[in-house]
Amino acid sequence: MKYPDLPYNAVLCRYNEIATKGHNRRQFENRLVGGVQRVLRALGKLRVAREAGRIYIQPPEGVDTFSVADLAEIRRRLPVVTGLASASPGFLVAPELTAMEQAVDAGFEAVYQAVAATVPEGEPVTYRMRANRADKAFPLSGTKLEIHFAERLVPRHDRLAVNLKQAALTVELDVRHVRAFVCFERISGPGGLPEGTGGRVLALLSGGIDSPVACYQMMRRGCRVDYVTFHSSPYTPPALIAKVAKLAEILNDFQGGGRLFAVNLLPAQKQIRDICRSRFRTVLYRRFMVRVANRIAEETRAKALLTGDNLGQVASQTLANMSVIDAASDRMILRPLVAADKQDTVAVAERIGTMAVSCESVPDSCTVFAPDDPCTSSTVRRLEAEEAQLDVPALVEACLEQAVRIDLATLDEYPWR
Ligand code: ATP
Ligand code: MG
Repeated sequence: MKYPDLPYNAVLCRYNEIATKGHNRRQFENRLVGGVQRVLRALGKLRVAREAGRIYIQPPEGVDTFSVADLAEIRRRLPVVTGLASASPGFLVAPELTAMEQAVDAGFEAVYQAVAATVPEGEPVTYRMRANRADKAFPLSGTKLEIHFAERLVPRHDRLAVNLKQAALTVELDVRHVRAFVCFERISGPGGLPEGTGGRVLALLSGGIDSPVACYQMMRRGCRVDYVTFHSSPYTPPALIAKVAKLAEILNDFQGGGRLFAVNLLPAQKQIRDICRSRFRTVLYRRFMVRVANRIAEETRAKALLTGDNLGQVASQTLANMSVIDAASDRMILRPLVAADKQDTVAVAERIGTMAVSCESVPDSCTVFAPDDPCTSSTVRRLEAEEAQLDVPALVEACLEQAVRIDLATLDEYPWR
């Protein structure tokens, strides 16, 4: 349903988890506000009012209300702000009954019309108010306020019927010591923790379905994610990097500014193909990816790597093989999807908008020289024996020499460090 564009003067930002952070709370709130400011840059420098545990975003200095265009931007952009549980545009008014009545009256009619249009003819339009009286000095209790407004509104509309359990139209009224807030809609956010509170990670981003979702999961825990992708040019086409850049751009909506590095793995892959036993190839490739990624992580100050690995999905994702891959990494490897069901991962990919891009069919690096008989239970000892036939440090250097940073908008290549 499209809510009407009312002349709101504030957006209330709700959060769940950061409320539990004790003395860090202020810092977490600042990050949350930073996230909101980032996505609403187009609206100008927003004012932030912090009142008794509430965060209100208000229009820039000298502007009283949000415009229709502003509201469209607010509704479109706030769902990507991590840490935000939900947000409501509404009326921030003096904590007096007449001011609250004016605010409710200013919005109710238009909201009622919009909601009524979605309810079949002849059926009641269910309504409830949720009043919260945080300021106990206010003379009317929450319940009394709810009754007061029901008595005001119901007689004015034939179809309006109070239903406290399930209502098509909910008016929220929050009465605080300094001000009161009235709203009619809630915009859902991703929840989790605000951007920048969780530290930096470097994601191994392929063109598949899983790794973009893994990135999103860690962003939702407040991590800043940079990306590295491996290709095998000229065996893989330039379209592969374009595809991964598109994914990175979609993901950056949730954080802004994540950098994409692209590395040609071919020098290592060729040697592995020529010298090592084919059944260990996939795990050997992965160990090289992880080594190269650790070097880039040094540069980006990432504290951990991140992959879309999912237990048992393919040969390289058995417990045995994942631990052999871990053994080649100086940094912890985060695998948020290790226990995920594919259908849940797909649902997230659709929700965040990466699914359609992931489904574009472009050959990826791992399918080049992939063995027919991948081993599912390698050991560090066996892998080290294979790698003893290679000059591992030189191959890592050879890959890094060809590494670049990709500009997501233009696909131009820049030095990676
Ligand atoms: P995805 O859908 O993320 O590609 P997948 O199920 O296809 O995952 P694999 O291809 O085995 O699984 O890859 C496991 C993980 O290894 C990926 O999620 C990704 O993090 C990393 N990875 C694989 N190939 C690449 C690549 N070419 N570049 C960067 N990372 C890669
Ligand atoms: Mg893959």
